[in-house]
Order: sequence, then C-alpha cells, then structure tokens
Amino acid sequence: MKVPFLDLKAQYDAIADEIDDAIRQVIERTAFSGGPFVSAFEEQFAAFCQCKYAIGVGSGTEALWLALAALDVGQGDEVITVPNSFIATAEAISFCGAKPVFVDVNGESQTMDPVLLEAAITERTKAIIPVHLFGQMADMEPIMEIARRHNLFVIEDACQAHGAEYKGRPAGSIGDLGCFSFYPGKNLGAYGEAGGVVTNSGELNDKIKMIRDHGQSTKYHHAMIGWNGRMDGIQGAVLSVKLKYLAGWNDARRKNAHLYTSLLSTIDAVTPPREMDYARHIYHVYAVKTRNRDPLMAALAEQGISCGIHYPVPIHLQNAYKYMGAGKGSFPAAEKCAEEIVSLPMFPELTDEQIHFVAEVIRRFCSV
Ligand SMILES: *Cc1c(COP(=O)(O)O)cnc(C)c1O
Repeated sequence: MKVPFLDLKAQYDAIADEIDDAIRQVIERTAFSGGPFVSAFEEQFAAFCQCKYAIGVGSGTEALWLALAALDVGQGDEVITVPNSFIATAEAISFCGAKPVFVDVNGESQTMDPVLLEAAITERTKAIIPVHLFGQMADMEPIMEIARRHNLFVIEDACQAHGAEYKGRPAGSIGDLGCFSFYPGKNLGAYGEAGGVVTNSGELNDKIKMIRDHGQSTKYHHAMIGWNGRMDGIQGAVLSVKLKYLAGWNDARRKNAHLYTSLLSTIDAVTPPREMDYARHIYHVYAVKTRNRDPLMAALAEQGISCGIHYPVPIHLQNAYKYMGAGKGSFPAAEKCAEEIVSLPMFPELTDEQIHFVAEVIRRFCSV
C-alpha cells in the first residue's frame, strides 16, 4: 500500500470548484499584488488568531524578518531562539544583522526550555523567538514572564502552528508578534509562497505594512527604507477559501495522531510524540522517536511509506552557522532529537487503513 507523506492533490480535489472560482475572480479583477483579496484574508486570519491585525507577506521567512525589522533589531543585537527548527528562524535573525543565540529544548516537548532561557540573556538581547515545532506551542507562560522581566520582545514562530493553542489561547496571539508560513505543505498552505504576521499592536501593524510596501505612506513617497514583502492576490484568495476548512482539517490531523499513538504506544522501541498538558497540538508533523531510525525508515520505504526527518541537522551544526563555533554537544536535547526523530505520513485525508498499515510495518520491524 502506498502511503504518501502528504497529499495536496486530495485536498484540492475536495474543494476544487471553490478554489478555481476564487482564482478566476482574482484574474478577472486583476488584483494580482496585494489588494482586496489579501485584505479580506488578513481580516479573516486576524480573527482566526484572535488578534487585532494580520499582515499578508511573501513567505514565513519574510514574516520573521519583517517582524524583527519592525522591532528595529539589527547590528549588535542578539535574538534568542532554538537550534532545532527550520533554518529560516535563524536566517531571519542573521539577515537583520543580529546574532542568533540558541537555547536548548525540553527533550519531551522539543520546544524552547524556559529553564535554560534566562542564562542566555545578555545586555544585547533584544527579542526571543520560541518555535511552535510540529504544531505544538512552546511553554509560553514562563517565556513571557522572563521576557517581560527583562524588557524583551517575543516573536512566536508559528509557521507550523496555525490553530494550535496554549491554555486555550491561539498561536500567534501571546507574543508581541506571531509569524506564519503558508508554504503549500503547511496546515494552512497557499498555492505558492506566502506568509503572515499577526499582532495586537497598531503601531507594529502600521510599521510592518509600511516596510512590506517600500516604506511608502502614499504612493512614491517613501518615509522609510522598506522592501517588497507583499502577498500575491491569488494566494490571498486561495487562503480565504482554505481558512474555512482549517479547523476541520486540524481536527482530522488530531484524530489521525490519536490513532497512531494508540497503535504505537504498545511498541517499546518507538516513542510517540507527547501532547503537553498546556497544549492543543495540531500535528503539522507527527514525529516519533526511535534509537533505530535509519533502518526503520528503510523498512517503511520498502513498503511504499514516505517519511521525513525534521530536522536531520540542528542549526548550530549546519555549515552556514559553523562560524559561531558551537560544536557537537552544545545543545544535547536538540541533537538527540535530530538523531532519533522520524516523521510519519500526516495529513487530514490520511485513512485509518493507511495508519494501521504504517503502524503494522513499524510493529513488524521492531519485533525482529
Ligand atoms: C516553514 C517554516 C518557516 C519558513 O516559512 P517559509 O514560508 O517556507 O519561508 C520558518 N519557521 C518554521 C518553523 C517553519 O516550519
């Protein structure tokens, strides 16, 4: 039985008429860059995140970069984040001219360990970027408490967490700014590149909107140095259609995750992901841990099951960040995750039959 890692075509087929119609409307109104379809989506997405404002931008990476730029993070500043994320989190910090400073994660949640946070703060620290990895939010309460005490901004990297919750509060709504990716494979994915920033601050909203449009207050009058960070009209229209289905899709992912976990929890050699007490996990990625990862992945591939590793090399061990001099052993929990995790197929349309098959292949592999 073939089990793909994700299946964007199945999702399109279920809503094809609506999507086609939305795209046609953008073309008919030639609202290709920014415009009414992006504004409409911004309003809907702000409401979804229980935030006052949302700003549609070009990608999740750009969302992070614009958030930092709006906080005037630059040369000489430090920004604290975690080493087990997609590299974009650190790149955004570097591209502002600031220095990423890593703190290790809690091995169980795989998100920023608040216990280690305070020791990483220096007089140069300007902001903290917790990453809501795999669709589970970081432990925000202690992070916010430490940030407030030290007068630091908090930017949530919610690029994998559209609709995730922390004690009932949606991802993006707790920090000063929340950044989202609408890369096609994310829980809310565009039909191309797109991203978004949410905030409750009118001032930050205005500033990011200015930066994203070349620092213009009125056309061709540039109050500040900005950038082109606008979202495509077609992406805004597609995202508006898909946002209506997101809660249902997240529920389906949770149901799939619960079935996986119930089937896998009796297998000693495999540890399913843990949903923390404070969290509502939306399983962008369903990652299990095993000491025998590479042979297990080979056994799954042999049966037509596609898996992934998120992420095989922590950021501090990437060649791009070698210059920082943080060698192996610097962040043991993140490094252990990188060695042991494997992401199983996860998407809303995954069938119970497919999940049983994946679990059975794992069981057979682990019992020989
Ligand atoms: C996807 C992702 C990003 C970057 O988003 P893009 O839209 O691909 O630029 C940043 N951080 C995390 C945690 C991500 O998963």
